[in-house]
Amino acid sequence: MMRPRDGFTLIELLVVIAIIAILSAALMPALSSANDRARITECKARLTTIGLALKMRLDDKGAYPSGIRQLYEERYITNEDVLCCTKTGVEFYFSKPLGGDPKAVVCACCDPVTAAGERPHGFRESLISLEAGGGLREVRN
Ligand SMILES: [Zn+2]
Repeated sequence: MMRPRDGFTLIELLVVIAIIAILSAALMPALSSANDRARITECKARLTTIGLALKMRLDDKGAYPSGIRQLYEERYITNEDVLCCTKTGVEFYFSKPLGGDPKAVVCACCDPVTAAGERPHGFRESLISLEAGGGLREVRN
């Protein structure tokens, strides 16, 4: 006479673990992509804040700072984290616009001439930048 079962067999457990592994492998790219989109959104918000701080400083002093850290030192920005890209943690690229071009890149996650494969944001290799006129731009390959 057979003994009544009081648990799972090893095969049943392995099948359940395999199904969980397959599902998580299928969801990983979607989760990773959502994570990168969140970082890009946060970088855009930080660059918007820097743009507003630059505008306030221009109104006050009539000139761009020598670097974006000066915005923090002069208290136009109170949170130091805002000065850095969310992906790399490195301070944003900054360049004073020389001409009157409102599309000139002032601030970005990396130097705008960085090769597409070396840009910080994800598989789309986005370059997020702030323009002299205050506009935000996201360039993808
Ligand atoms: Zn960034």
